[in-house]
Amino acid sequence: MPFHDIQGHRRIIDLLSRSVQRGTLPPSLIFAGSSASGARPTAIAVAQAFNCLEPRTRNSEPVLDACGVCPACVRIARGVHPDVPIVEPAETGLIRLDPVRDVIDRAAYRPFEGRRRVVIIDDADALLPQAQNALLKTLEEPTSSSVFILVTSKPDLLLPTVRSRCIRLSFAQGAGDDVDADARDVAGRVLSHAATTRDAARRLDAARDLLTRTGAGGAIDREQLASHLRAMGALLRDIEVVGTGADAALLSNPDLKPELTHLAGSYRGERASAAYAAVDRALAALDRNAGVKAVADWVVLQL
Ligand SMILES: [Zn+2]
Repeated sequence: MPFHDIQGHRRIIDLLSRSVQRGTLPPSLIFAGSSASGARPTAIAVAQAFNCLEPRTRNSEPVLDACGVCPACVRIARGVHPDVPIVEPAETGLIRLDPVRDVIDRAAYRPFEGRRRVVIIDDADALLPQAQNALLKTLEEPTSSSVFILVTSKPDLLLPTVRSRCIRLSFAQGAGDDVDADARDVAGRVLSHAATTRDAARRLDAARDLLTRTGAGGAIDREQLASHLRAMGALLRDIEVVGTGADAALLSNPDLKPELTHLAGSYRGERASAAYAAVDRALAALDRNAGVKAVADWVVLQL
């Protein structure tokens, strides 16, 4: 299924097709979303965009898409293209070391017939720890000819070492469900850090934290920072809820109530709403193409 047939997720789809076109797609990605979310079809679409025999651009924009009907597209969709291996759980519900070792070995070579090898690991949370550890070495030293996409509805079950090597794109439907735990964790750490110091230099250390997994400031980095900022906005809203003593049912992150209560002590008065407004402005600036690092630096100084 090419990009143009996928329902919703326009932001992510545009981002991915531009990155394929410009050759800036990171080599290791997590597509986080349930089976109904479109995460797996989007992984297939990435593989097709790279390897379609008759790719097309849309309205002369730098947005590349596959045709969906050429022999390469058809074989990728059927899971039988030699350069697009799809690893899935066995009948046991688990993904063992052997199939992973097989795709890792293949990733060392150039694609057989396509332009880029795209390894798709579906239900990647089913990977046994030793399979994840084997994968880790490849994710740490990626080859330019292969892209790994880990599709999972439960990204938090992956080893932290594996998660930290991958850029995560969230296919969650609507806010609230399937919270991006990594983004929330980063956002929470930056807020706690800002709560304990007014010192600008130390605040900027927190900005570096925000930027940990952003690379050259490309489109994917932009999406990653936006996801961190959205998580921060949700936390700040919750801090306001806790601060005003409103009903806990209004919290987007009810599981973090103790931490939120602690932070509400520091974000008293107008501080939480001012910080929330700053996060909002930072997201708008990202939309207007402001630099990733400049936005991250600016926003932490407003917290
Ligand atoms: Zn095609």
